[in-house]
Amino acid sequence: MKTGKLIIFSAPSGSGKTTLVHYLLSKPELNLAFSVSATSRSKRPNEVDGQDYYFLSPVDFQKKIKENAFVEWEEVYKDNYYGTLKSEVDRLLKAGKNVIFDIDVKGGLNIKQQYPDNSLAIFVQPPSVAELQKRLQARQTETPDKIRMRVEKAESEMQYAKDFDVIIVNDDLNQAKEAAYKVVKKFIES
Ligand code: ADP
Ligand code: 5GP
Repeated sequence: MKTGKLIIFSAPSGSGKTTLVHYLLSKPELNLAFSVSATSRSKRPNEVDGQDYYFLSPVDFQKKIKENAFVEWEEVYKDNYYGTLKSEVDRLLKAGKNVIFDIDVKGGLNIKQQYPDNSLAIFVQPPSVAELQKRLQARQTETPDKIRMRVEKAESEMQYAKDFDVIIVNDDLNQAKEAAYKVVKKFIES
């Protein structure tokens, strides 16, 4: 059987990668399944455990690190750990799916390195850091302090864009969706 492909979406928080990933997941012909990450951050009211993330206590997250259960993990924000579970990627590939990831910039490049033959790494770029800040404020999921942390981090994350296979600028959302669909479809069919 043909091995599934890995489609990695990375970007600073607020760029729109979750929006684009959800759009692609709604296209059955792409045969995508979402790699649910583990995190030690607290659940947002609209999130579902096991669907958006596996929500773990900080202690349980550290236990998994020790057990070598992660393909990659990062302390993306202070005291907030995120990681891709080996068991998750294996399960989805075994089920014959193409796997789609929504992970931070370093984690994305890390996965690309580990799966050089069957992965495509896509960087979602916001039109500007000011626009990104506006989107995070409008999303209303983080406190002003946390938004500040994410915006500060965005400046350095933007430097990694050049290391990705593809950059999609998410200015007009419909155009970004179309660009994402095209590039993913082509890669999956290659
Ligand atoms: P990320 O997953 O990268 O943190 P989200 O997909 O949650 O980003 O998008 C951040 C916010 O911006 C969301 O409220 C989303 O609805 C909104 N958004 C996404 N793309 C656009 C766009 N092109 N123009 C305006 N708002 C957008
Ligand atoms: P959020 O808290 O907004 O859901 O995510 C914060 C950041 O963590 C985002 O950039 C998201 O892509 C990233 N992230 C989510 N899952 C993982 C993961 O498994 N590994 C890494 N390295 N980053 C992740």
